Amino acid sequence: MKKSRESGFLFCGLCGTMLILKTTKCAECPLCKTTRNAKDIIDKNIAYTVSAEDIRRELGISLFGEKAQEDAELPKIKKACEKCQHPELVYTTRQTRSADEGQTTYYTCPNCSHRFTEG
Ligand SMILES: [Zn+2]
Ligand SMILES: [Zn+2]
Repeated sequence: MKKSRESGFLFCGLCGTMLILKTTKCAECPLCKTTRNAKDIIDKNIAYTVSAEDIRRELGISLFGEKAQEDAELPKIKKACEKCQHPELVYTTRQTRSADEGQTTYYTCPNCSHRFTEG
């Protein structure tokens, strides 16, 4: 009789469906929604399939300066926000499918987060 203890897969105690690892701490049965503490059942196999990214998210560790860097890369334009009159807006452009219509410019106000389009 083969025991599947070492396979690293977890099965629902109620219906026998293979559990899905929802987080690093909790596994859930997709059928009956029974959850189990992953600690009970987790083994090294699974621990290694969880990416470093998942663990960081799980632990709530944010990447250093990731957000700030994103912001710095956004193009800005001297244009007043139509809501709060903030003089500089972040913008992105997108070419519409039809060449006749040209491109649409999306503006986001960094001050009040107001979004509007032009084009
Ligand atoms: Zn189940
Ligand atoms: Zn604004």
